[in-house]
Amino acid sequence: MAAKEYDKTVLRLYKQLLRNSKPFLKDGDTKVIKKAFEVAHEAHEGMKRKSGEPYITHPLEVALIVVNEIGLGTTSIVCALLHDVVEDTEWEVEDIEREFGEKVAQIIEGLTKIKGVFEFGTTEQAENFRKMLLTLSDDVRVILIKLADRLHNMRTMESMPRHKQLRTASETMYLYAPLAHRLGLYALKSELEDLYLKYSDNEIYDSITSKLAKSKDVRERFIRIFSSPIKKDLSNMGLKFSIKARTKSIYSIAQKMRKQEIPFEQVYDLFAIRIILDIPMEDEKAACWKTYSAVTDHYQPNPKRLRDWVSTAKANGYESLHTTVMSKTGQWVEVQIRTQRMDDIAERGFAAHWKYKDVGVTKNSDRIQEWLDEVRKSLENKDLSALDFMDEFRNNLFEEEVFIFTPNGELKVFPRGSTSLDFAFSIHTQLGLNCLGAKVNGKLHPLSYELKSGDQVEILSSDKQKPSRDWLRFVKTSRAKHKIKVALKEAEKTIASEGKEILVRKLRQLKLDHTEENLIPLFRYYNVNNSFELHYKIGKGLIEPKQIKEAFKAKSASKKAEMGQISDASSFKTEVKKIRDTDTDMLLIGEDMEHIDYTLAVCCNPIEGDDVFGFVTVSDGIKIHRTNCPNALKLMSNYGYRIVKAKWTKQQELAFLAGVQLTGADRVGLISDVTEVISNNHKVNMRTITVSAEDGMFHGKILLFVNDTKHLHTLIENMSNIDGMISVERFDYNEQESEV
Ligand code: MN
Repeated sequence: MAAKEYDKTVLRLYKQLLRNSKPFLKDGDTKVIKKAFEVAHEAHEGMKRKSGEPYITHPLEVALIVVNEIGLGTTSIVCALLHDVVEDTEWEVEDIEREFGEKVAQIIEGLTKIKGVFEFGTTEQAENFRKMLLTLSDDVRVILIKLADRLHNMRTMESMPRHKQLRTASETMYLYAPLAHRLGLYALKSELEDLYLKYSDNEIYDSITSKLAKSKDVRERFIRIFSSPIKKDLSNMGLKFSIKARTKSIYSIAQKMRKQEIPFEQVYDLFAIRIILDIPMEDEKAACWKTYSAVTDHYQPNPKRLRDWVSTAKANGYESLHTTVMSKTGQWVEVQIRTQRMDDIAERGFAAHWKYKDVGVTKNSDRIQEWLDEVRKSLENKDLSALDFMDEFRNNLFEEEVFIFTPNGELKVFPRGSTSLDFAFSIHTQLGLNCLGAKVNGKLHPLSYELKSGDQVEILSSDKQKPSRDWLRFVKTSRAKHKIKVALKEAEKTIASEGKEILVRKLRQLKLDHTEENLIPLFRYYNVNNSFELHYKIGKGLIEPKQIKEAFKAKSASKKAEMGQISDASSFKTEVKKIRDTDTDMLLIGEDMEHIDYTLAVCCNPIEGDDVFGFVTVSDGIKIHRTNCPNALKLMSNYGYRIVKAKWTKQQELAFLAGVQLTGADRVGLISDVTEVISNNHKVNMRTITVSAEDGMFHGKILLFVNDTKHLHTLIENMSNIDGMISVERFDYNEQESEV
């Protein structure tokens, strides 16, 4: 078909796609790809992206990511090209099946189904996420293409409205990045995290980016000098290899600065040296250790920082040998040693496993398969609420692991912090439920014993043993938690149904039916959330049936009068809607004050000028949070429908409390210099100042009232210029601290 009518960009992308997929195309593949492209092009004809580009550039870019960055093949390319066709155009799944066959149709259907994953509301969203993971069992390519789709959307969010950017960014951080991590797509995960930071905290993102660029030359010179003796040795040993430096991702630099409260300049492990060996598979392990030996001939290793994932890979398939050594200039440097195959798997994860599978390495792809099976099993279990599931799923993603042996010497992998009870549940549910304790390396230990790598564990059990709520504190794996919860729930259900019978009888005496509406006064009086909880408390004897009558009497006046109390779910929803339906759909902080009840959140203490959003709480009006608030991610991704856009309007007399922390050389007169800067700056009121000095270093924390972020920044800058000052930064104080 003639290409004459194609837009220039479109044609360039399409040609690039063909070129990049060429190495693995088989007979006829080019034809299918061409057909998919033409179908998608025609179906999206006339549609434009927000950026103004023809819509078809998006599926093309997604297909390119699928090829270049995930390493998938023809079927996936075709699906990537067609991924928005069913959703956005006249095309139906049946049409796809007719034109491209069953496999492609299945994947497209999967992709279309999980499309609305994050639309509206907690439960629905979690339920959709569960659905999305369920498709893993059909074909993992659905998830991989979805990740590519998300990556391209994140890369091109520039022209989206601000609230959409935030929403998309936090969803990405909440689910897609962990998912990419679990599938071993390291490069993709890092980019998603970096983009998240770019949109949620642009200031820190920009500052790290520019500092990285400025320090680039120095870094490269250091790396050249550091690697030169290693290079010489490896060449003499006759090894084929390449050495590159990997800079830490912007997001992980930011994380480190935040966690350790240090400035950029003090992040010592900004980069790692990676040695990649080109070696046949059977010699891999020996070659890695030979290389380790060469490295440590020149540089002293830190014995605590040796990580051997060559002998036993991580659960997500990662293989590498890591060591941290001391450079001649007194700097710790991480060195990663691996083969080309290991590097492919580390960067591209799941897909790369298939590439090497034919060659005979099945060890790790089996681990992935095992994990997928595990995920599917837990998904198929309907008892766990979707939300619980999602939380646990995420928690299990980033764990480090311990390796444990069964009495027969079989190896099992657990997340760090797992106990003998987790072990018992991994063998058999009944064994877990009846677990008394364990014999670890021949010695008796309680069921709460925390497993250590290398332990050999045998479980002791008794039919008399029953799980208790306490057990939830002892277990780490979702499987064990889930099984315990199900068992407890069963027991609670029995108690609750007894309680319900009692309540029904009691209500009948009061001439009331057992309806949700009639129970609301009781919920409030007993401070319970739902009828199950109420029934349970009655069944358990925590609520005396005799008192119930009192509860109805007490119901009316007092509670409802409390400001902002929203008593039930439906009126709460109306309330949210009311706020969202105002003209601008935007909460103007400062103007709407009289009409709407809002306060500034204490977790992040926003001040005028900060990027903020409003969150509608159940009983406390609207809270204003900073978009980089530690809680923002969870709020936005779990309770999207309760988010209200907000921005500052010019405040009159309002002043905001902000925290500033200082570090400097402890010298006479420093404090008076600080207070002078503050008092010279008109309109600044200091609330508290705490200082400490240690070994010649001065640390100070000041709480002061400022007008807005600009005002705060000026102050910080002036303080930074004080002689001997090392760092001055804003920090999130918490209220308790400030009350002292
Ligand atoms: Mn898309």
